[in-house]
Amino acid sequence: MPEFLGPVKGFGVTFRQMFRKVDTVQYPEEKHPTAPRFHGRHQLNRWPDGLEKCIGCELCAWACPADAIYVEGADNTEEERYSPGERYGAVYQINYLRCILCGLCVEACPTRALTMTNDYELADNRVGEEFLPQTSVLPHVDAVIIATPPASHALLGLKAIAAGKHVLIEKPLATTTDAAWSLVDAAEAAGVVLMPGHTFEHNAAVHKLRDLVRGGQLGRLFYLDCARLNLGLYQTDVNVILDLAPHDISISNFVLGSRPTTVTAWGSRHVHPEHEDVAYLRLDYADLGVRANIHVSWLDPHKVRRITAVGSKKMVVYNDVADGERIRVYDKSAVPPEEGDGPLSQVAYHLGDVVSPFVAFAEPLAVQDQHFVDCIANGSHPSADGSSGLAVVQVLECAQISLREQRPVALAEVTRRRMAAGPTLDAAFTGTSVG
Ligand code: SF4
Ligand code: SF4
Repeated sequence: MPEFLGPVKGFGVTFRQMFRKVDTVQYPEEKHPTAPRFHGRHQLNRWPDGLEKCIGCELCAWACPADAIYVEGADNTEEERYSPGERYGAVYQINYLRCILCGLCVEACPTRALTMTNDYELADNRVGEEFLPQTSVLPHVDAVIIATPPASHALLGLKAIAAGKHVLIEKPLATTTDAAWSLVDAAEAAGVVLMPGHTFEHNAAVHKLRDLVRGGQLGRLFYLDCARLNLGLYQTDVNVILDLAPHDISISNFVLGSRPTTVTAWGSRHVHPEHEDVAYLRLDYADLGVRANIHVSWLDPHKVRRITAVGSKKMVVYNDVADGERIRVYDKSAVPPEEGDGPLSQVAYHLGDVVSPFVAFAEPLAVQDQHFVDCIANGSHPSADGSSGLAVVQVLECAQISLREQRPVALAEVTRRRMAAGPTLDAAFTGTSVG
């Protein structure tokens, strides 16, 4: 057959298949009935008085051949009683991506707490059916964690604070300084805990980095260098600075124990038509005489999460994607010639050992969330509070101005602007409608 007839033959196959009767049904409009006694979604049951039957014994988890069940038991108390006996299932999770619907967990349960229903749907494509609006949820909770697109953070946070709820907001706290100020002011007035999701400030490796820098082991700190690179994930509502740099800004502020005075940023749009996908920031900490350089990118072949601290005596590299040895201390330095001692070519180099100190691992997100709960329960002040969230947002706003106007921007500029404008609560949130 001549080569040019190849595509015609291919279309012939397509047309033949197009008019064949299909075996599938239009799900979810036409639901396929399940077989009698089909065992599907699991259900935890209660006694007639409303108390839970589950006693958190974990026997179902032990019996599960797919390792799909996770249970954490806890003690009932007279003040807080969830089940009739001593223990109850405080955490009960089933990973349905693993579950093979064998029913062994139901067999294993000594209290008949667990049964399997006839349902097979685990999710729904109708958002309204699966998620309740924020206003109907708020009366039933003490605290809220907001992990939504950054542009919605301030509005959702203010609604929760207005309802008297403690709030943990994913980074960045807000997308503008005015909005971040509003959150801080509102939380203070309502007497609720406001925490930004600065996960790395709850990371043991970052604590180690801070101790090394502030403990003086590196000598005089020259600079910090941060790189947060990967291929993607492109965001639709913010550029790469707002997406990735909050981590490095919060780490730099935390490690140095200070706030930058001037921010310079430059970036470029390669793939995204509206938002910068590669950017560089320079943060000047004038009070310390130290500079932090930050490189963020959605367009790099390597996943890099690295902070380097360079001092006059030693250097430290914190590599967050290293399997072990996330912190490495390099006994290396460049020693300049004494004044009037000769040309710069006579710089001497000190080359010593590389040491990786032990850093106990604890999941930073879990540590952060536990800290949030502890602050609420004990009435204590969070280590990373609303003002540290605000400090990061101020740097982000300076970076956006610098990007636009191609000049260094002093932090005082955004602080002064806000003070001149006064503490407006809603100017920054026009048009955002979530939940
Ligand atoms: S049905 Fe089987 S696989 Fe699924 S959770 Fe129960 S024991 Fe595990
Ligand atoms: S569901 Fe049953 S087996 Fe599983 S933890 Fe609760 S009481 Fe134990």
